[in-house]
Amino acid sequence: MKFSICNLGCKVNAYEAECVASDLTAQGWLRVPFEEPADASLIFTCAVTNMAAQKSRKMMHQARRRNPDSIIMMVGCYSQINDGRLEDADILLGSAHKKDAVKYLNEFLQNHEKIRVLDLAAEVPFEPLVTDTFENRTRAFLKIQDGCNQFCSYCVIPYARGRERSMDPDTVIQQVQRLSSAGYPEIVLTGIHTGRYGKEYGVPLEELIRRILQETDLQRLRISSIEITEITDAFIALMKNEPRIARHLHIPLQSGCDRILHDMNRPYTTDEYYARIMQIRKEIPDIAVSCDLITGFPGETDEEHAATCAFLRRCEFSFLHVFPYSARENTPAAARKDQIDPRVKKKRAAEAAAISAALAENYARSWTGREASVIWEEEKDGFVRGYTSQYLPVITTGPVQAGRPVKVLLKEYRDKSVFAEAYDETD
Ligand code: SF4
Repeated sequence: MKFSICNLGCKVNAYEAECVASDLTAQGWLRVPFEEPADASLIFTCAVTNMAAQKSRKMMHQARRRNPDSIIMMVGCYSQINDGRLEDADILLGSAHKKDAVKYLNEFLQNHEKIRVLDLAAEVPFEPLVTDTFENRTRAFLKIQDGCNQFCSYCVIPYARGRERSMDPDTVIQQVQRLSSAGYPEIVLTGIHTGRYGKEYGVPLEELIRRILQETDLQRLRISSIEITEITDAFIALMKNEPRIARHLHIPLQSGCDRILHDMNRPYTTDEYYARIMQIRKEIPDIAVSCDLITGFPGETDEEHAATCAFLRRCEFSFLHVFPYSARENTPAAARKDQIDPRVKKKRAAEAAAISAALAENYARSWTGREASVIWEEEKDGFVRGYTSQYLPVITTGPVQAGRPVKVLLKEYRDKSVFAEAYDETD
């Protein structure tokens, strides 16, 4: 039997798609590209904006047209929202039972009756989806948390993925050791709201990380992203004393204007955000801080956008992920009457992206002449690429020691890259 997968949306969705693909492969299914004929087409849907939902529907119709006899299985956030526009799908699998995807495919093959699995009870347990197959043989991902209780006014995730829940700490340790033994020198702990890990176990994220570092031989641990309100003093102290934790924090900002942050239902002010990153930098001077930003939130004025731009420069981020605000049905922000003209949103996003490019260059240049810890990855066209602990992309002409962190000297910034001189010593 052949299957194909199309993944839309965030990295967590991509991770889950790979986990389900691993399960199918383990049961003897053969993966083919999405464009090719298959017995089952799996679409990992996204609901983050109306556009993302529309794209999920488009992929469903495309798959049906291209492969009329294929089983169409729609999985994830948009399936869970279930707005009645995915009725053509044979299987709708929401956010709670992705681990059983293979079972539902087999059920459909036997009965040919539509399947809907959309229960998402408040107390739904964490589903441990794991794989050890990643495109990049250096960096593995492990999803340790799902769901969100925060209800930011623009976001549909708490409805699509349900309440917060986490992988139990012992399973995390086992999985980290398994991935490390499989040869991954770096693991990224990921989730929807990773900083809220472990509430049900009374084990905060820093406690989990401490255990991982003590009980496994993992060489580098990275955290995908963390909210500013969740970076505790204990977390900073642990990072400071543990060089195996990557010196990079991605801390969503979303706006550099207090009125907009308030309207977004984000639980901090710009002063609080700034004070915290300054404290982090004081304790861990070699840390990189990056962020997410939304431009053109309803009601955002030109002055407020200008204030945001000034704040971005002041924070000296190492890079930004910029998203023009995009309405999502059934969220408070989408119901507002003061939506911003799409051209203005785009223009503001382009301005923020230009600031990001300038900040990224400044940040990269600030590392020239310094030593850094790099894990080398792929070799292409005579150049080897890798990332420093700060997630700074670097290149060298080699030869290199791959598969473990090594010290390098960062020589010069050229053509948007930092050139490194590879040493042979272990980090
Ligand atoms: S913290 Fe806010 S933006 Fe992030 S998933 Fe939760 S509700 Fe959405």
